[in-house]
Amino acid sequence: GGADVECDVLVLGGGPGGYSAAFRAADLGLKTVVVERFSTLGGVCLNVGCIPSKALLHNAELMDEVMELAANGIKFAKPEIDIDALRGFKQKVVGKLTGGLAGMAKARKVEVVRGVGTFVDPHHLAVELTDGPGKATTGEKKIVRFKQAIIAAGSRVAKLPFIPSDPRIIDSTGALELTDVPQKMLIIGGGIIGLEMGTVYSSLGTRLDVVEMMDGLMQGADRDLVRVWQKMNTHRFDNIMLKTKTVAVEAREDGIWVTFEGESAPSGPQRYDKVLVAAGRAPNGKLIGAENAGVIVTDRGFIPVDKQMRTNVPHIFAIGDLVGQPMLAHKAVHEAHVAAEVIAGHKAFFDARVIPGVAYTNPEVAWVGMTEEEAGKEGIKLGKSVFPWAASGRAIANGQEEGFTKLLFDADTHRIIGGGIVGAHAGDMIGEICLAIEMGCDPEDIGKTIHPHPTLGESIGMSAEVFGGVCTDLP
Ligand code: FAD
Repeated sequence: GGADVECDVLVLGGGPGGYSAAFRAADLGLKTVVVERFSTLGGVCLNVGCIPSKALLHNAELMDEVMELAANGIKFAKPEIDIDALRGFKQKVVGKLTGGLAGMAKARKVEVVRGVGTFVDPHHLAVELTDGPGKATTGEKKIVRFKQAIIAAGSRVAKLPFIPSDPRIIDSTGALELTDVPQKMLIIGGGIIGLEMGTVYSSLGTRLDVVEMMDGLMQGADRDLVRVWQKMNTHRFDNIMLKTKTVAVEAREDGIWVTFEGESAPSGPQRYDKVLVAAGRAPNGKLIGAENAGVIVTDRGFIPVDKQMRTNVPHIFAIGDLVGQPMLAHKAVHEAHVAAEVIAGHKAFFDARVIPGVAYTNPEVAWVGMTEEEAGKEGIKLGKSVFPWAASGRAIANGQEEGFTKLLFDADTHRIIGGGIVGAHAGDMIGEICLAIEMGCDPEDIGKTIHPHPTLGESIGMSAEVFGGVCTDLP
C-alpha cells in the first residue's frame, strides 16, 4: 500500500534505547525514522527519569553536606528553599539535554515523526500525529513503511489497583514535579526509584516512611552495602516497614490514610500528607499493535528477543525496558547498538557479562556482577575482600569514612566476579569493576594498577590488594 514515509529502519520510541539505535543506524548509512509521541526525544530517562532525578539529588546532597560542615567549624544559616527556582533548574537541565538530542538527530538526518505509533502489518506503522506531551492527537495520520524495525517503546509506572486517584498520591513523575514539600510522606516500594525520590524530599525537610514487601530495601544489591546505607540513612525515616504490604489507601480531607499488613505493620491506618507509589514499572509491549506485525508479546507486556535483540519476526528487533530487567538506561543503550549493528549487517550480539546497578541516594550504592548470595546459590567457592573507607585518607578527609568497597572473586579461577561500593560517588567508580569483570581480571590486575592518591577510587585498588588471603571485616 501507499506510505507517507519510507525508511530502512523504523525506531518506535525515542528514549535512550530508541535514540541510540536510530543514531547508530544512521551512522551506519541507513535511512532511519524515529516515531515518538512526546514532543522531545529522551524518553523516560531524560524527561522524567534518570536526569531530572539527578538534578534534584545533586542539590539535595549539597544541602546535606553544607549542613554537616558545622561540625568542621563552618556554619551556614538554615537553607531557604525556593521550590519554583529549584524546579526551574531541573527543567533547564532536561531542556539542555533534550535540545541536544534534537540537534544530534538533525545532524544525522534522522527523521522524527511525532505521534503515537501502532503496527498495521509487518512492514507498516500507522502514526497518529500529536502536538506535544499529553496533547490530543491532531487527527492526522501518517503511514511509515519500513524494511526493518526496532521497537523501543519502553515502560510506564505500574499502577496498584486499590489506590484511589488523588493529587496527594503521586508516582515518580509526580514526585519530580516537586509541587510542594510535604511534612510526612509514605513511599510504597523500597526500590531505587522510591529511595532516590525519598532522599530528595527528605533533604528538603520531609519525614519518610517506606513500605516494602520483600525482606530488604534495594533488592538486587548486595546486602552488606544496603545494611551500611540504611545505617547512614536512619535519620530520614520514621518507619522502615519490611515484609509488609499496603492493603488499603483512603483519601480523606485530613490526609491519605494507609493500612498495612505484615511483619512490621503498625496497628491501624496511618496518616500521610503525600504517598509516593514506586512499586515498579510495566513494559509497554501490549500498547503498540505488535500482534499486527506478528511479534510475540508476553502476558505482562514484555517482548522476548534473542542475543541479537531479534523478536520472533526476523526483521523486527526490540530493546530497552520492554525486553526485560534490569530496566536501566545503560542496558537500553547497549542493546540499541547491538540491534542497529545487526540490521546494518554486522555480526553483533549482546555479550555483556555484567550490567551495573546504582542507587544515586546519599550515599550512593553501586554494585555489579554476582552478589555473595548469588555466588553461594551457584556453588562458587568465593573469595572476598572488603576495604572500609575508615582506612582511606581521602574518605576521612572528606568526612565520608562510613563507606566501603568490596570485591568478590572466584577462588578457583581467581577471576573477579562481582563488586560493590557504598559511599560518595560510588556510581562514578563502579565502572572500573565492570571493566575488570568484562576483561577477566584477577584481583592482582587491579591491585598492581597504580591508582591516584588520595582518591576514593583508590579504595578499589586497596581492596584488590588485600586479596591473597586477608579478608577485612566490616567495622
Ligand atoms: P523509555 O525511556 O521508556 O522510552 C520509550 C519511549 O517510547 C517514550 O519516550 C515513549 O513516549 C515512547 N513511546 C512508547 N510507545 C509509543 C508509541 N506507541 N508511539 C510513539 N512513541 C511511543 N535508569 C538508569 O539507568 N539510571 C537512572 O539513574 C535511572 N533513574 C530513573 C529514575 C526514574 C524516576 C525513572 C522512572 C526511571 C529511571 N531509570 C534510570 C530507568 C530509565 O529511565 C529507563 O530504563 C530507560 O528510560 C529505558 O529506556 P527505553 O528507551 O527502553 O524506554
